[in-house]
Amino acid sequence: MNNINVTRSSMPDFEEYIKEIKPLWESHWLTNMGEKHKQFQAELIKYMEVNNVELLINGHMALELSMQALGLTGEVITTPFTFASTTHAIVRNGLTPVFCDIDPDDFTIDADKIEALITEKTSAIVPVHVYGNVCNIEEIDHIAKKYNLRVIYDAAHCFGVKYKNIGIGNFGDVSCFSFHATKVFNSIEGGAVCFKNPDFGQAIYKLKNFGISGPEKVDGIGANAKMNEFCAAMGLCNLRHIDGEIVKRKAVYERYTANLKNIDGLHINFVNDNTKPNYSYFPIVIDEKVFGADRNDVFEKLREANIGARKYFYPLTNNFDCFHGIFDEKLTPNALYISERVLTLPIYADLSIADVDRICWIISQCEKR
Ligand SMILES: *Cc1c(COP(=O)(O)O)cnc(C)c1O
Repeated sequence: MNNINVTRSSMPDFEEYIKEIKPLWESHWLTNMGEKHKQFQAELIKYMEVNNVELLINGHMALELSMQALGLTGEVITTPFTFASTTHAIVRNGLTPVFCDIDPDDFTIDADKIEALITEKTSAIVPVHVYGNVCNIEEIDHIAKKYNLRVIYDAAHCFGVKYKNIGIGNFGDVSCFSFHATKVFNSIEGGAVCFKNPDFGQAIYKLKNFGISGPEKVDGIGANAKMNEFCAAMGLCNLRHIDGEIVKRKAVYERYTANLKNIDGLHINFVNDNTKPNYSYFPIVIDEKVFGADRNDVFEKLREANIGARKYFYPLTNNFDCFHGIFDEKLTPNALYISERVLTLPIYADLSIADVDRICWIISQCEKR
């Protein structure tokens, strides 16, 4: 039996990619904002229906440099139920993350708990659209305006998502996307920021290119986070097929839902009414008292069958070894509860329905042993 990983990267036909990169052998222009970079940027602005896109080498640098470009100071309110990148980007900017609990139904920041965490040092909110589930945008926007805070969305999971028919990159001051190989849409490695303020665009452009502002002028202390031409070419190819890939993911997602929704003790991800989803992940939350087996049992049973589910997100970022003794995961009890019980099941465009059924059968066999 073949191994099934939690995800499998979408790729164009070999010939399509070769055709896309062929001109690079003529121009010998491999990076530094060349033709492919320009085309990819323009295509993304159209597809995402946003004002501006700046491309970066990965999603992490999109987050890290966005925080720097906005000149954040002091404390940043965020959640611990996320990938390492979100919290690390805050800490690597010399900022203090203040962890807000999550809503146990959709795993995004519980907006009702944000205000109590605001102090005179708070400069921003960094919410995460976890698994492509959309945060409580209206409430976050309201709080940000009231206290004059910046909002940077970690939108790494939600490429292609729309909220109330508006592209998800239009919300907050900045939305940061990841085009990593494991994401719904990839450019091998890659990232992007969507934003409205052109001053922010200039600031992040400089930060991704050593602070250079002219041939003989360096007036900022930048990093190097430019997207190269090969990654942009991969992005251009994959963008042609993204809608089809999401349709295929939908079939997988719906099969999982149909198979698992009536099993006692399993909680399935729910999709908000106002959202056009991207079916990026299929998380289940296992209540061991009702189901009869716990998350780790199910993980092991799948692993024995060469099926790679993931404990995503476990541990919480506020319990990472690198932050030992600094934060307290007990202050975010919903996040702690979910992270100990969540399992994300394999999902990708070409996962067969037969494999979905097999995975669900194995899970059902774990019940009440
Ligand atoms: C993948 C991911 C990132 C980082 O993106 P990279 O492109 O891998 O650097 C940030 N936040 C979340 C929630 C992610 O899943």
